[in-house]
Amino acid sequence: MEKPKKLHAALLSSPGMGHLIPVMELGKCLVANHGFEVTVFVIPSQASRAEAEIIDSAMTPKLLDIVELPAPDLTAADLGPNASMVTRLAAMMHEVRPAFRSALAAMEATPDVLIVDLFGTEHLCMGDELMIPKYVYVPSNAWFLALLLHSPALDKEVKGEYVDQTEPLKIPGCKPVRPEDVVDPMLDRSNQQYRVYIRQAGEIPMGDGILLNVWEELQAETLAALRNEEFLGRVVNGPVYTIGPLIRPVRPAGLAKELLEWLDKQPNESVMFVSFGSGGTMSAEQLVELAWGLELSQQRFIWVLRKPIAKSLDGSFFDVGKGCGGDELLSFLPYGFMECTRNVGLIVPSWAPQVDILSHPSVGGFLSHCGWNSTLESIVNGVPMIAWPLYAEQRLNATLLAEEIGVAIRPKELPSKKIVRREEIEKLVRTIMVEKEGHMIRARVKELKSSAEKAMTKGGTSYESLHKMKEDCKMRIHQIKKAP
Ligand code: UDP
Repeated sequence: MEKPKKLHAALLSSPGMGHLIPVMELGKCLVANHGFEVTVFVIPSQASRAEAEIIDSAMTPKLLDIVELPAPDLTAADLGPNASMVTRLAAMMHEVRPAFRSALAAMEATPDVLIVDLFGTEHLCMGDELMIPKYVYVPSNAWFLALLLHSPALDKEVKGEYVDQTEPLKIPGCKPVRPEDVVDPMLDRSNQQYRVYIRQAGEIPMGDGILLNVWEELQAETLAALRNEEFLGRVVNGPVYTIGPLIRPVRPAGLAKELLEWLDKQPNESVMFVSFGSGGTMSAEQLVELAWGLELSQQRFIWVLRKPIAKSLDGSFFDVGKGCGGDELLSFLPYGFMECTRNVGLIVPSWAPQVDILSHPSVGGFLSHCGWNSTLESIVNGVPMIAWPLYAEQRLNATLLAEEIGVAIRPKELPSKKIVRREEIEKLVRTIMVEKEGHMIRARVKELKSSAEKAMTKGGTSYESLHKMKEDCKMRIHQIKKAP
């Protein structure tokens, strides 16, 4: 008997590691667990080693097809030197439309379904052109999605800047959002990135459903709110599929010899991992405070060090893994720091194998910028966090992690607003690594680790949710074919 034809999904990833990684993982999961064929279309931001590594990892063994679209020409976008990361990303996604359309047309056969990430909502219309179902993959959490989907309503209701409001912003059925926690594009309503953000929110309902990188148990109440009539049918068109946590797997030889040997020598759960995602940077003054805070804590650490940049907190987003060389980087550390921490600390320049480090038994804490991929990687490895939000939706994530999910502690003031001093850093690190409060948080993360594992296995909520998406997809294909 002839085997039934596999569904072929075309996935479009926007530039940036925080987007490319979850899209690749979704592609791999669709192939490995749900019998899809997958082609991922990628737009390289800079031909960095880190990016190439992610792409290679999906090709050995070859699980899916990858098509690299040409880097879009941004001359027409007329971006000023101060254009934000969101504005630049949106411009790249806008300008790449002809190339993506041609690449889809050049495929041997039309794909059966189109899945775009959050920055790809402008491409949903291509699903209509090809007469195939189309979905939006939001590789973030349900509270962020609720705020995003409710933002066009807030845009009408709220007068003045969100950050100047005296009351938290209300979202139907969800925890209200404090003005200082709004996502970056909401910080200044006159900035171009705010219009981009509102446009994206308005385009999401054009899709046949939303895929979200969480699992049911993690955010049950917020998910219920998203499925309530206040959202459903109004700003959510079709189901919200919870398919996570989808994260990069640990690689067999992911840790370089020196790093592995060093980690192997440390006691269990004794090392604080310090890293700020693909884009995170800080001022020279903050870097010095962080260095001395780590030293004062007397705890072991691995620190992914980047060149300090004062003018933006996402300064390395498009230059990920490039940075400057090891010696130049070390010159930004305060005098005497390397000597004082020689036996307890390790500095990794610019980019580190994060998942492999977090999964090592010696790692016991993560001082993180709270990007959603980093957050999931920490939870899946049972590692409690110090939340150090910098840009994008990270302030929202930090509040969620510290106040609702209970897997993190955080500085009193936002690091994006005020320098966090060494004494406070020392206290935060010690709280996670040695205090009773830290032990309780660790126990909570471990609970979530096992709930995440359950969700991802066959019969678990996330596995079944993606299976349901496949079944719904088949039904839609059938309906489209039947339509006059
Ligand atoms: N990452 C990494 N090594 C680094 C920094 C980041 O492997 O030195 C990976 C990290 O594991 C995560 C992704 O890059 O999968 C960053 O995504 P996240 O959502 O945490 O933050 P973003 O970079 O988008 O702000």
